[in-house]
Amino acid sequence: MSHRKRQRNTPQRRIVLEELRKAASHPTAAELHKAVRERLPKISLGTVYRNLDLLSQLGEVQKLEWGGAEIRFDGNPKQHYHIRCLRCGGVGDVHRPPLDVSADDLQQSGYEVLGHRLEFIGVCPRCRNDDAEKTTDSLNNEEE
Ligand SMILES: [Zn+2]
Ligand SMILES: [Zn+2]
Repeated sequence: MSHRKRQRNTPQRRIVLEELRKAASHPTAAELHKAVRERLPKISLGTVYRNLDLLSQLGEVQKLEWGGAEIRFDGNPKQHYHIRCLRCGGVGDVHRPPLDVSADDLQQSGYEVLGHRLEFIGVCPRCRNDDAEKTTDSLNNEEE
């Protein structure tokens, strides 16, 4: 009995959730593991992953899963769009209103539309900055 109770609402899960909510970066399980280990030195990556899976099933967090890309997690369970950097794989939030799923062209598909997935892709500000620095560097080198 006490075993079941422990599984239901473990302090581990609470800490995983707290750390994920603190992180603005949509971390991977491994990145979050690092942060959680500051508070729970003995916790394993597997345990962090299991708790993240469970939290996403409970609708407390979002699992960002896209074909081939690294799985990331989002402490914000509300629907919002993401943009992924093609260089570093980083993920940011996009603040725009959601698409209208009752639109005519969707209704014409004959499907009952339950939702949608949409991810923007691009190059993040940090990677763009790196590019700019490299360009300046090579220009400087040419001048020498
Ligand atoms: Zn980037
Ligand atoms: Zn997000």
